Amino acid sequence: MRVGLGYDVHRLVEDRKLILGGVEIPYEKGLLGHSDADVLLHAIMDALLGAAGLGDIGKHFPDTDEKYKGISSIKLLEHVGKLLEENMFIINNIDATIIAQRPKVGPYRDEMVKNIANALKIEENMVNVKATTEEGLGFTGSGEGISSQAIASLSQARDYSTAVSPVQGCESCAGCGFNR
Ligand code: MG
Repeated sequence: MRVGLGYDVHRLVEDRKLILGGVEIPYEKGLLGHSDADVLLHAIMDALLGAAGLGDIGKHFPDTDEKYKGISSIKLLEHVGKLLEENMFIINNIDATIIAQRPKVGPYRDEMVKNIANALKIEENMVNVKATTEEGLGFTGSGEGISSQAIASLSQARDYSTAVSPVQGCESCAGCGFNR
């Protein structure tokens, strides 16, 4: 099993849409960035790429490339999902936190989870999205920006091919039914 950590920050400014987890959230400001600045998805992508040992989103989607200007981060997440698949990685789970004083993002959480799971072709119960304020402290507390942290756990398909044999069954996993 492998784990990866992701962290991202974007500045809140006027005249931008606020997109979090692929959901457009009504708010007086939005996040500034080269893409749609979806800070949650950026942290999740970095966690996934980190767990896979495949670098980071800056390497795969440079913000100097016009191709990514204004792009939906859901598209980038789909691309990360394909990269993982090509490299025989299986996503075990993703856990992420949005750190924002305002707006309240709780009502949009289920939709975010659905978007993330769909983009990565995984079950919704493998994705958890949480939100917190920072009690008015720091740049998130003052409303200057929003940050996000994420952690992801991956397995590599070859981990299973060596662990499972049709004769001996699998010692490490009782859940797959391989030995029944
Ligand atoms: Mg970013």
